[in-house]
Amino acid sequence: MHFKSLILMSTMCVMVSACSEKRQNPLMTESDAPYGIINYEQITIDDYREAMQEGMRQQKANIEAIVNNPDKPTFSNTIEAFDKSGTLLDKTFLTFGNMSGSNSSEEIRQLETEAYAQLSNHNDDIYLNRALFDRIKQVYDRHLDNVTGETEMLDHEQMSALKHIYQDFTRAGAALTDEEQEKLRALNLEISNLQVQFSQNLLHETNNTYVTVDSREELAGLPEANIEAAAQMANEQGQPGKFMFNMQRPSCNPVLQYCSNRDVRRRVYEAYYNRGNQGNEWDNKEICNKLVRLRLKRAQLLGYKSCAEQILTKRMAQNVENVYDLLGAVWGPAVDKAKEELADIRREMKKDGLKCEPEGWDYMYYCSRAKAARFQIDEEKMSEYFEINHVIEGIFYVANRLYGLTFKEITGTVPTYEPSARVWEVSDKNGEVLAVFYGDYYPRDGKGAGAWMSDMRSQSFRTENGKEVRVIPIVQNVCNMTKASGDGPALQSIDNVTTMFHEFGHAMHFMMHNVHYNATYNVETDFVELPSQINEHWATEPEVLAVYAKHYKTGEVIPAEMVQKLVESEKYGQGFATVEYLAAAIVDMDIHSMTQLPADFDVIAAEEETLAKWGIPRQILPRYRVTNFSHCMGGGYTAGYYCYLWSEVLDCDGFEAFKEAGNIFDPALAERFRKSCLEPGSIDDGLTMYRNFRGHGPDVSALLRKRGLTPNK
Ligand SMILES: [Zn+2]
Repeated sequence: MHFKSLILMSTMCVMVSACSEKRQNPLMTESDAPYGIINYEQITIDDYREAMQEGMRQQKANIEAIVNNPDKPTFSNTIEAFDKSGTLLDKTFLTFGNMSGSNSSEEIRQLETEAYAQLSNHNDDIYLNRALFDRIKQVYDRHLDNVTGETEMLDHEQMSALKHIYQDFTRAGAALTDEEQEKLRALNLEISNLQVQFSQNLLHETNNTYVTVDSREELAGLPEANIEAAAQMANEQGQPGKFMFNMQRPSCNPVLQYCSNRDVRRRVYEAYYNRGNQGNEWDNKEICNKLVRLRLKRAQLLGYKSCAEQILTKRMAQNVENVYDLLGAVWGPAVDKAKEELADIRREMKKDGLKCEPEGWDYMYYCSRAKAARFQIDEEKMSEYFEINHVIEGIFYVANRLYGLTFKEITGTVPTYEPSARVWEVSDKNGEVLAVFYGDYYPRDGKGAGAWMSDMRSQSFRTENGKEVRVIPIVQNVCNMTKASGDGPALQSIDNVTTMFHEFGHAMHFMMHNVHYNATYNVETDFVELPSQINEHWATEPEVLAVYAKHYKTGEVIPAEMVQKLVESEKYGQGFATVEYLAAAIVDMDIHSMTQLPADFDVIAAEEETLAKWGIPRQILPRYRVTNFSHCMGGGYTAGYYCYLWSEVLDCDGFEAFKEAGNIFDPALAERFRKSCLEPGSIDDGLTMYRNFRGHGPDVSALLRKRGLTPNK
């Protein structure tokens, strides 16, 4: 509420100044603020709308000019010109995307729906533009076929940009006939609409599927704060005196973990996994069936055997076989570990006088009880060693020891989109400014759940007086960490601490980018989590903890045995966690790698068949069932849920290099990681980058060890 009135105020200020002088759209003018940071607080919703329209118009005009150029197509008049054609549009959507994630409002959400539909059409117009593709193809053919007499020499990055752009066009259907392109446009539109519908149904099901409990006694074991929240929810839903849970994780997860009443757990468990499959008006089954069919049709129209094959051509994994090899290598040890955990659960159940076989709703509850009994970790006591400012110091310390980065806080001297965000100028080891970093750590209305990194301005180069100048990136971490109550310290759980190291790993990746083209900027999806996940490893190293994990009152460093117990305890429950993850990844891969579908294809039956074939223990379900699996059906991670594990193989094996060197801050190794994996964007493919760093391809055994999935024999 407070936030909304702020927006209103800033809009009013803008209106006043608009009367006195001609106001300029902050998105469409160069900012005179330090580092050229956009004056976020001055941007209105109409500014976004105007800059989006103008951005599309400019890009269209730029493309017209490329197509109508009478000169022979060259790298600079075609590839480079295309790469730079959407500058305003990119900048506007980058800024808007950050705003809709971290400071959303009803009017932003409205514009979002409208704008992304327009953008998708705009992109179809570009990638299906035959005259443009024709010029790109001429440049590509000349350089790739080494035609004699070619005078234009391209460097390694330019060759890479050329290949990426050419492949983006062919993947998008630029080489198809007119008739095929018409079909493709129709498919794209239908798929995109179904994905939106899927996500909206899921959101509704998650927020509006309730489990109601009549009495407090039935909630024994649940922490008081969760009981209070449930009572409040019931009140809001017109059922005062009762207790209600919806299907958002913070509401329903604690029930599965702590509530001793088996029947309450069962009801929550079933409701959670049945989202999108209740036969009501938000049912997702038919949408899933259609999506699988349409995605296959689109892939085959583009010349691929399956949807997964189409998607994996642009991934480090390259093909379906490589993905199954990885999933298969982890599956066996994970199922074995899950069965060991199951034995512990049976023992715990016996203590409660239960003689029956454990069910799915028993797993989390007894697993966490067995874990607590075995490790006796007091999470609250532990959090006293993780005050948020100390954690930030620890993160910066690691960045300094590894890469020589230094941080100067500049909060208050630069524009910001949110007054509580902190800002730092980040300098490189040679003293030059490398980037600006925003840390936006606490929850508020309008901020999305979870934690993420995004670049508010991407790194690029521009020419000034004939000299090339690096435009520094502006990078942000947006999180929902635990806020301090009153003047007290903001103490964090160990999960929050690793999340902060994780997001800062992404941030360093984007701070260190050193590329010349948009086409060489983004890495493959299954490489993305390497820089973030590898950075997590330093968080719990004793050498690092000694620097930052200090008690907020006494300053005493966290006791070694507490750390040891913590590291050991994190392996506990990994059998279950790994199997539920793998099962979802396998279902995603199975349904998207089908090369034909029976006339009566049914996604639920297909899922069941996969689970039976792999022999999943009956107490474990995939982390998401198909009808509520937004990674797989919503669009973002189609045939891509495996990516998290793929990156984890890289980060575990990669961190092992530092262990082998006997120094977690080995400077030569850190420098090699930076040069090979953090700076080049996608100039090289992921496997090449990784090999350049590690000297060999990734090995899965470090991951198995980290998750404790190696046999105990
Ligand atoms: Zn990440």
